[in-house]
Amino acid sequence: MGIKIGIPRALLYYDYFLFWSTFFEGLGAEIILSPKTNKEILNSGIKAVEETCLPVKVFMGHVQSLANQKIDYLFIPRYVSTEPRRFPCPKFMGLPDMVKELPGIPPALNVDIDIRKHKGEVPEEMYRLGRVFTFNPWKIRLAYRLALENQESFKNRMHRGLQPEEIFFNRTDTKTDRTLKQNSTLRLGLIGHSYNLYDRYINMDIITKLQEMGAEIVTSKMFSDREINQVLKKLQKDIFWSFGKETIGSAYYLLDDASVDGIILLVSFACGPDSLIVDLIERAYKRTERPFLTLVLDEHSAEGGIITRLEAFIEMLKRRKQKNESYISTYGKSVDCPEDPILKTGPRVDTSTADNQENG
Ligand code: SF4
Repeated sequence: MGIKIGIPRALLYYDYFLFWSTFFEGLGAEIILSPKTNKEILNSGIKAVEETCLPVKVFMGHVQSLANQKIDYLFIPRYVSTEPRRFPCPKFMGLPDMVKELPGIPPALNVDIDIRKHKGEVPEEMYRLGRVFTFNPWKIRLAYRLALENQESFKNRMHRGLQPEEIFFNRTDTKTDRTLKQNSTLRLGLIGHSYNLYDRYINMDIITKLQEMGAEIVTSKMFSDREINQVLKKLQKDIFWSFGKETIGSAYYLLDDASVDGIILLVSFACGPDSLIVDLIERAYKRTERPFLTLVLDEHSAEGGIITRLEAFIEMLKRRKQKNESYISTYGKSVDCPEDPILKTGPRVDTSTADNQENG
C-alpha cells in the first residue's frame, strides 16, 4: 500500500491540487483529501488561530480534520514565489510553521516553492520531496513533467469557465466543458482569490445564487496570464503580490469590457493585500461610473444578508440596463456628486494608496 498523503481542501488547493496529486500519485502515493468545508471545520480553525483572515482559519480547520484520519504525512508546501519579482501573501510562507504549532498533527512534508531557486528541468526541491517515495530520479522526473502538463491543462480549462473541482474529479468531459456562461440578461464579473470564489461554504455558494438570479459569471480565473499582464501595463506601478495581480488585472480587464454590467469583489475580512487592491479597484470603477459591489466574507457572514445584497445589486443593474437609468449609483453615492474628489481626478489609474501603505 502506498504512503498516504493528507492534503487540506483549502487555500491553494483550488489552484494547485491537480499538480500535486499528479506528482504524488506518479510516485505511488495515495491522496487523502479533507472533506468539503463545513461548520465543524470552520469552528475548529477559528479555535486554532484567532487573529487571521477567514481562509487561513478554514485551512487550519482542514488540517485538523486530517489529523483524525489515517495518513502518513500532511502536505503543507511553502509558497515563496511562483513568478519573477512577485510574491504571494506572507501567510502562505508561514503556513508550515503555523501548522507545526497545532497539537496532535501528523508529520508534515514541506517543500519550498521559490522560482528564484529553480534551476534545470526539475527543481532540486522536487527531487528532495520525491525521494521520500523513491530513489529513482527518472520516476521523479516523469511524475514532475506529468504534473506540469496537467497543471497547464487545468489552467486552460479554468479559462474556459470550469470550476476547479469539476476538473480535479473529472466531472465533465473535455469535449463538453460546461462553462459558467449561460443565456442570461446580465453579465457579471466575480473577482477574488480562488479559495474565496470556489469554496462554496465560505462564499455561501455565490456562483449558484447568481446564476439562479439570471446572471452569467466571468471569474478572475478565466483570464490568461497574457491578458492580465497586458492590462496591468496601465498601472503606474507594478503589483507586488502574485494573487493580487490576478485580482486587479481581471477587474481592470472587465472595466473596459462594455458587455459586463458590473463586478462583485469577494474579499476576506482581515486580508491585508486585498485591502489595498480592492481600494484601487473601487476607485477605478467609481471614476468610470461602472457598477461594483464589494462583499467581505468572515465567519459571521449571514446567508440572508448576502442574498439581500446580491438581489439589490442585480435589481439595480437590471434597472440601469432596461430603463437606461444610468444615473443610479450602485455604491451609495450619486455618480454626479460634484464634491466627490475621486470623480474629479479623471480616468488615471492611481496606485498612491499602495505607495503610502508600503512607505509607512
Ligand atoms: S491574501 Fe488575504 S485572504 Fe489570502 S491568505 Fe493572505 S491575508 Fe488571507
